[in-house]
Amino acid sequence: MTSTILIRFGEIALKGKNRRYFENVLLQNLKSAVQDMPVQIKRMHGRFTATFSEDDAAAVIDRLSKVFGVVSLSQVSTAALELEAIKGKAVEVVRSLPEQMDTFKVETRRSNKSFPLTSPEINRQVGAHLLQRCPRLKVDVHRPAFILFIEIGMQEAYLYHNSIHGPGGLPVGVTGKAMLLLSGGIDSPVAGWMAMKRGLSLEALHFHSFPFTSKHSQEKVIELCRRLSRYGGPIPLHMVNVAEIQKEIRAKCPEELGIILLRRMMLRITEAMGKQRGIKAMVTGESLGQVASQTLESMEVISAAARMLILRPLLGLDKHEIVEKAEAIDTYPVSIRPFEDCCTLFVPRHPATRPNLARVEQAEKSLEIDRLLYEALENTETQIIEY
Ligand code: ATP
Ligand code: MG
Repeated sequence: MTSTILIRFGEIALKGKNRRYFENVLLQNLKSAVQDMPVQIKRMHGRFTATFSEDDAAAVIDRLSKVFGVVSLSQVSTAALELEAIKGKAVEVVRSLPEQMDTFKVETRRSNKSFPLTSPEINRQVGAHLLQRCPRLKVDVHRPAFILFIEIGMQEAYLYHNSIHGPGGLPVGVTGKAMLLLSGGIDSPVAGWMAMKRGLSLEALHFHSFPFTSKHSQEKVIELCRRLSRYGGPIPLHMVNVAEIQKEIRAKCPEELGIILLRRMMLRITEAMGKQRGIKAMVTGESLGQVASQTLESMEVISAAARMLILRPLLGLDKHEIVEKAEAIDTYPVSIRPFEDCCTLFVPRHPATRPNLARVEQAEKSLEIDRLLYEALENTETQIIEY
């Protein structure tokens, strides 16, 4: 038995002449989400349909409902494009519903204008037929227990009575590409998800201090990246070793500036890597006021190290909202596994919360920034992570 779902998209329909482009990217993203399964996805007047074997239904719906740009989807019954066939299918659909769903109305959308009846006529005729064939039913146009939706497509008619939400947003790729600074924590994976929701495709960058941090914490980041790739397709993950940089900072700079100096190096590395790869923005999981490095003063001094645009999608969220999101996108269970972050190594006892740029720049004079930058880029390993 084959199954069909109807996929609706929202925002992209509003975007004027970009519409066709956005639709093409969404279609491509839907196809890649199920590329290892026999699923046929077709375009249909402001919607897509996916057809697949009934046995795969749960997996296909799970995957397609994660694709950005999808507003909702419905599992549908199909009927031939004739009123009698549609009536017959309507009875079948209604008989499969629980007894207590006893009030209804019919709503038709006719994208195929060559169908001989108008939408109100279809509503009336199918409604009348249901009343006749299913004695428990009554019409209630204001608060029906269910609505039988009918869509008249070009080849078939689709009937359904409920839908599930997709994530909304824009298809990944349509607004460009960004570099996600991915730590092993709770916040940055959520920030990456939110960036993808606005149509950005991602590469990810993780800074580690092997051998001071274990291979374990790198595996954790790989797993986080893998989970993010469910939403936006394969993600190139760059692992950069900053152990040398940390050692130099520790040996040569004032202790309380350690984190700020490391963060500034991270931004420089990100910017250099972005330039090489044609990426114009970075995404971080920073919020305001969470920790010493997230005061306005710290953020100002840190971001002064690079010109690249920094996006901070979590800025408006409270911690508990970030945690809720992390749970919903299923990165939370990985994020809370214990790990050592390179930033938690050598943590100063009293990190500066209101650093002064002149002092920071003074401290950096004892570092050979260009050499450290070059070596870090040399010490980068890249792998493509996919689900
Ligand atoms: P997270 O939960 O994402 O680790 P956090 O609340 O712990 O965030 P910070 O440790 O101040 O906050 O880090 C702020 C942001 O800097 C992170 O969200 C991430 O984008 C980036 N970052 C921090 N450490 C690393 C790292 N080791 N590799 C890559 N990016 C990092
Ligand atoms: Mg962190």
